[in-house]
Amino acid sequence: MPAGRCSVSRMKHTNTMKDKIVLITGGASGIGKATALLFARQGAKICISDVDDRGGEEALSELRKISPESIFVHADTSNHADSEKTIRKIRETFGRLDVAVNNAGVGGDQNPIAEYSIEKWEQVIGINLSGVFYGMKYQLPLMLENGGGAIVNIGSILSTVGTSGAAGYVAAKHGVLGLTRTCALEYASKGIKCNAIGPGYIKTPLIDENMTEEQQEELVKLHPEGRLGKPEEVAELALWLAGDQSRFANGAYYPIDGGYLAQ
Ligand code: NAD
Repeated sequence: MPAGRCSVSRMKHTNTMKDKIVLITGGASGIGKATALLFARQGAKICISDVDDRGGEEALSELRKISPESIFVHADTSNHADSEKTIRKIRETFGRLDVAVNNAGVGGDQNPIAEYSIEKWEQVIGINLSGVFYGMKYQLPLMLENGGGAIVNIGSILSTVGTSGAAGYVAAKHGVLGLTRTCALEYASKGIKCNAIGPGYIKTPLIDENMTEEQQEELVKLHPEGRLGKPEEVAELALWLAGDQSRFANGAYYPIDGGYLAQ
C-alpha cells in the first residue's frame, strides 16, 4: 500500500466512543438495542431508556458485560416529564451527555385516514414526533454545558415519501426530519450536530409484531437488495453520525434502505 493511502482495515475505527456518554431512547429492543451494544463495544457508557422494563433490564445486563457503568431508565418519550427525568439521571450519574440517539418509536394504526383511529394518531405523534422534540429539548442544555455533542434522530424512509395506511407514522417521521434540520440550524455554531437516519424496513420486533409473514414478503420486494435490513446495519450508520469522523455532517438525512428510495 503506497504511503498516504488508507486501506479499509486501517480505516476501521476502534474505541471511537471511548468514555462518551450516550443516551439511546427505546434501547430495549431492535435498532436501539443494537446501537447501544455497538456503542458500548466502542467504549461508550450508555443510558438506555424505554417503557419496557423487562426488555430494558435484559438489554442492560448484556450492555454491562461490555460497559459496566451503563444504566437503564424507565421513561416514556411521549411524556416530557420523563424526558427531563432521564436527563436528570444522566447528569447525576455521569455529569455530562455527548450523544443522544432518539430512537423510540411505534408503528401506529394501519388504516386509511378516514378510518385512522384518533387514539392511535395521538399515540404515534406523541411517541414518534413529540418524543423527539421533548428529548432534544432536555438533551441540548446538558450537551451545551460541555461544549457540544451529537444528536442522531431515527426517522424512516417514510420521512421523505408516503405509504398508504400509515398517516400517523408518515407524518411523525416527516416531522422528525423537520426537527432535525431546525436543530442543526439553531445549534451548529454551538458545537452540536444533528442528523437523521432513514432506515428502510428492518427486521425487528416492530415489524415482526405488526406484520404477517405475507406482509413481510411483500415488504422484501420493495427493497432492490431483496431483503429487509438488519438493526446492526442501522447501528453502524448511527455510530458514524455520532462520532468525530462525521464532524462536517449536519442537518442531513441519511437513508439506509437497500435501495428503496432509489426507485
Ligand atoms: P422495536 O419495536 O424493536 O423497538 C422500539 C423500542 O421503543 C421498544 O423497546 C419499545 O418498548 C420502545 N418504545 C415504544 N414506545 C416507547 C415510548 N413511548 N417511550 C420509550 N420507549 C418506547 O422497533 P425498531 O424497529 O427497533 O424501531 C426503532 C426505531 O426505528 C423507531 O423509531 C422506528 O420507527 C424506526 N424505524 C424502524 C424501521 C423498521 O422497519 N423496523 C424502519 C424505519 C424506522
